[in-house]
Amino acid sequence: MEIYQTNQLRIYNSLSKSKEDFTPIVPGKVGMYVCGPTVYSNVHLGNVRTFLSFDLIYRYLKHLGYKVRYVRNITDAGHLENDADEGEDRIAKKARLEEIEPMEVVQRYTVDFHQVLQRMNFLPPSIEPTATGHIVEQVEIVKAIIAKGLAYVVNGSVYFDVIKYNKEEAYGELSGRDIEAAVHQTRSLDGQSEKKNPQDFALWKKADDRHIMRWPSPWSDGFPGWHLECTAMSTKYLGETFDIHGGGMDLKFPHHECEIAQSKAYKGVEPVRYWMHANMLILNGQKMAKSTGNYILPNELFSGENQLLGRGFSPSTVRFFILQAHYRSVLDFTGPGLEASEKGYVKLMEAFSKIDSIASGDKDTLDIKRWKQQCYAAMNDDFNSPVLIAQLFEAVKYINLLLDQQATLTAATLADFTSTLTVFVLDVLGLQDERKDKRSDTLSGVVDILIDLRNEARDNKDWALSDKIRDQLATLGVQLKDGKEGTTFSLQ
Ligand SMILES: [Zn+2]
Repeated sequence: MEIYQTNQLRIYNSLSKSKEDFTPIVPGKVGMYVCGPTVYSNVHLGNVRTFLSFDLIYRYLKHLGYKVRYVRNITDAGHLENDADEGEDRIAKKARLEEIEPMEVVQRYTVDFHQVLQRMNFLPPSIEPTATGHIVEQVEIVKAIIAKGLAYVVNGSVYFDVIKYNKEEAYGELSGRDIEAAVHQTRSLDGQSEKKNPQDFALWKKADDRHIMRWPSPWSDGFPGWHLECTAMSTKYLGETFDIHGGGMDLKFPHHECEIAQSKAYKGVEPVRYWMHANMLILNGQKMAKSTGNYILPNELFSGENQLLGRGFSPSTVRFFILQAHYRSVLDFTGPGLEASEKGYVKLMEAFSKIDSIASGDKDTLDIKRWKQQCYAAMNDDFNSPVLIAQLFEAVKYINLLLDQQATLTAATLADFTSTLTVFVLDVLGLQDERKDKRSDTLSGVVDILIDLRNEARDNKDWALSDKIRDQLATLGVQLKDGKEGTTFSLQ
């Protein structure tokens, strides 16, 4: 039996604006799509927070025993500077400014994105598709939407007709925007725009002469609208209706609203069962964003090369800091906040590293069953990581009581306590014990084996073998020292 069969997960659905019981479309399987980065600059900490929210969600779903297909895309074309389908492509602009190829920009920042996530111990998604790798699929969707009469062609560009769509469907259902009111409030277009209505959005844009990133289509040499790639890739890999769609709060409108409209126009069905949105990271009282210059890069935070904090913080500390807030709460990034998290993190990991030295007793004086239920209850309640972390600090208290022999657990309960704590600390929260170098642990183990073999040789008066072990270790810089307490070693 899988864990999910005895744990009812509840998820806050941004579409219904309420917590709902999670029931996947196919029992035991979950399809999850998360809007990935536009790779035109270094990933900042605000972006990392969004992706970390979904890393936590992915990890917990996997722990519950679901077979999860997690798709997180890379936007490498089509994302213009503003939401009104005007301005330059962000990647093409960066390429022009730096006098390099757009694909060099894409490569550079995709590598940066992966490196940062790897340092912070993210699990890679199951599929990481790119917009440029799915141009054919996007062109097919545009054709289908035109055929349904919900898009129109102007001068080689194609726009989605929001007003016509809204007659049958509800445009704005996710973001809560009233499109009728918006239409009445908006002044008429300035004559520059090709759109029938300001609310319409681009499915395909004709490329001007200087635009390098272009592909042929029935309408023009051009490029897809930004919203279209997510519809193409989610549908291709997860089906026309899938379980979870995630992203940052700022993507609700227009990006996700447009995705819903495109998908419904294309397939006639609601594309997503549960919409999930991660809240933002605040720095200096404002949203962390590249466009305003109010941001901090993860690598600056790790290295200490930043003016804000004056010293570095480890990737796991940063991870722990972010997870101490619920993903739907605004998180205020401050130096004192980060320092407090660092203390908490060290305290947690110190206790966790001692758990193996607890000896079992003949009775249970702590209610581990109840503690374990509360850990699951926290995560089942819309992935409430701060409540889970509070439970982990309860476990720290338990560990200290057990080490001081003020409490006891039977061998079976102790094993359950250890494995549950290991699951939540390492697998679900994805924390790493940075205080210990695993390689040096392995080395110590290997040298201890050789010391034992040398002692056996000496007991057998096999001096040649015992000297050989000592000398060969010495050539590798491992010095053995024989003392009253036995043999120890040092590295040179
Ligand atoms: Zn998207």
